[in-house]
Amino acid sequence: MSMQGSVLTVGKCLACLEFILFPVWRGIGLSGGVAAGWSQSWGRCLRLEPNSPGQGAPIPAYDYPVWLVLCRGGRARLEEVCQRGRGAIRLPTELLRLKLPQLYENYQVPKVFREDGIMSGYRHPRSSARDCVLSSFSMNNETMNIWTHFLPTWYFLWRFCALSWSMNFLTDSYTWPLLVYMVLICIYPFTSSCAHTFSTMSPESRHICYFFDYGALSLYSLGCAISYGHYVIPDCWVNTFLHQHFVPIAVGNTIFCTSLSCYSRFLELQFPQRSKVLRTGAFIVPFIFDTVPLFYRILLCVGGNCSSSGALSSHCYHLLFAFLTCFLFTAHLPERLAPGRFDYIGHSHQLFHVSAVVGTHFQMEGVIADMMTRRKWLLTHGAAPSFLGTVGVLVLSFVLNLGIIGVFSAPLLWKPWHSAPQQHTAATATAPATARELKEQ
Ligand SMILES: [Zn+2]
Repeated sequence: MSMQGSVLTVGKCLACLEFILFPVWRGIGLSGGVAAGWSQSWGRCLRLEPNSPGQGAPIPAYDYPVWLVLCRGGRARLEEVCQRGRGAIRLPTELLRLKLPQLYENYQVPKVFREDGIMSGYRHPRSSARDCVLSSFSMNNETMNIWTHFLPTWYFLWRFCALSWSMNFLTDSYTWPLLVYMVLICIYPFTSSCAHTFSTMSPESRHICYFFDYGALSLYSLGCAISYGHYVIPDCWVNTFLHQHFVPIAVGNTIFCTSLSCYSRFLELQFPQRSKVLRTGAFIVPFIFDTVPLFYRILLCVGGNCSSSGALSSHCYHLLFAFLTCFLFTAHLPERLAPGRFDYIGHSHQLFHVSAVVGTHFQMEGVIADMMTRRKWLLTHGAAPSFLGTVGVLVLSFVLNLGIIGVFSAPLLWKPWHSAPQQHTAATATAPATARELKEQ
């Protein structure tokens, strides 16, 4: 029996039966013996009908509605709603008609797109921008990577907006380090989400997307340094040489971090181990530098000289998740133990994203707590944050990072322009391709 036939038969059978399910709403304004409102009895309330009664018209799976009549007057109400919101009601049907991009096994895509332990769920390596966006709504091995950073972007934006209501970011210079930090913790997950979305447009675009991802992470480390240098620094370090040069050194760290991490991509195919070590090192160096004041405060606390214990507990949770993030990034667990089992959900990069975001949440709580509780002491004993030392440094570092990304991207953009150009159309992206065709690209 065909699918349509079976649906029709089931619909007819259901129409003959009386259902005893649960009380239902009979509709508003009905009169004439039958009370409006909730049904007294529990029967004859659920009836499935074909779209065109009497004509025996088939009921295709998605193209026509199957009426679910809940009670007397219910169908009329439903038709009225459909009339009013015809466009909105039909939207899901239109979406279902869209053809979702095909997925590939790891041996079908070029080596540059393959990930350790991920065997399937790869998107076409020459996807169009439209297919890349569509793919984020269908399951593939990047879907969770995209959403695990896209949704947290909105969480951090919401926190930023809430803080904007309670703080005066425009004229209160003490809040500017927090302003820079909040902007950057919104930017880095969003950039990562975009990088994962559009990384399969071409091998060149993959590299450039991740250059931006690394640049945003590098800037985030600068945001940490600016906020730590102003709010988290131990009391005994205020006005010392390190305190006064903390932010300028952090700017040097971002240049180092972005340059080294971008460079590591060029080694990925030939020397994967060296590439991994360089990239991990590129992010560990600024992390350790930024966290030195925090480590010192925790040591002081362990020694009995504890201040702002509430903030320190948040900072400790952040450190815990930071170590977990680093471990997940380098270990490639669990997919290394069971290749192919975690292609779509649960592979290390998704866990790495989640861990990074949870860590950032605790870090944000710690920074805000320190900022609130130490305001009076810090403003009395140290200099107030300057516009140039906070927002100015952010703008300068942003421009420098863009320049570095431009330098690393130029050869990639130059190469396809002067070698044999390929059409990046939706047709080529969605057309079925054999393994050999894809390998040759
Ligand atoms: Zn990522």
